[in-house]
Amino acid sequence: MISQDAFLSLKGELTEKGVKLAAVSKTHGVDKIQQVYDWGQRIFAENKAQEISEKQPHLPDDIEWHFVGHLQRNKVKYIAPFIHLVHSVDRLKLLKELNNEAEKHNRVIDCLLQIHIARDETKYGMDYGEARELLNQEALKSLQNVRIVGLMGIATLTDNRQQIQEEFQGLRAFFDEAKAHWFKDHASFSELSMGMTGDYDLAIEAGSTIVRVGSYIFGQRDYG
Ligand SMILES: *Cc1c(COP(=O)(O)O)cnc(C)c1O
Repeated sequence: MISQDAFLSLKGELTEKGVKLAAVSKTHGVDKIQQVYDWGQRIFAENKAQEISEKQPHLPDDIEWHFVGHLQRNKVKYIAPFIHLVHSVDRLKLLKELNNEAEKHNRVIDCLLQIHIARDETKYGMDYGEARELLNQEALKSLQNVRIVGLMGIATLTDNRQQIQEEFQGLRAFFDEAKAHWFKDHASFSELSMGMTGDYDLAIEAGSTIVRVGSYIFGQRDYG
């Protein structure tokens, strides 16, 4: 676990640059989350619907919970009452399910489209072509209880910093394209979620507005 001084220094650096911090607390207990909350952190992110919905009732109400993992449609109902931002929307069916569940709670759920920018086969997300196709869907207009506010991407896990930089720059270029083409009159389309413990500096250089930092804050994850 990071020291309070080191945490506040990270936070200060990000605030100065206008970048939001999502503290990724997956696998860590509510005591550690409460500790970081007490240092002033308000945005926490998790990647499992069950885990986040178990932790949420034990922690302060003014936490902004973000979801960053692969989300199955049948799990949407667990997070719909409280989730603030879903970073990982990768198909229209999921967006429709989020819309239906949000409507039941009289809410609008903010979403990011997850784009697959890494050079590997395993990670989730749409490629740029699939994202354009989704954004062209007429059906989007009828979804009143979800709002697409930006994009998210995970770079390749590699030591090749130049490759990571290119992946982030590619996503930034697509963000600019999407803003100009589909969201010209939507000031709310403004978030670019990229950067984790190992690469958030490169992400910020490329224009990230939200970094998702886990192990640097909470320490190594123990999956038991
Ligand atoms: C776990 C996770 C993170 C945080 O990763 P760290 O390397 O621990 O900072 C960020 N984004 C997503 C989508 C994650 O699943």
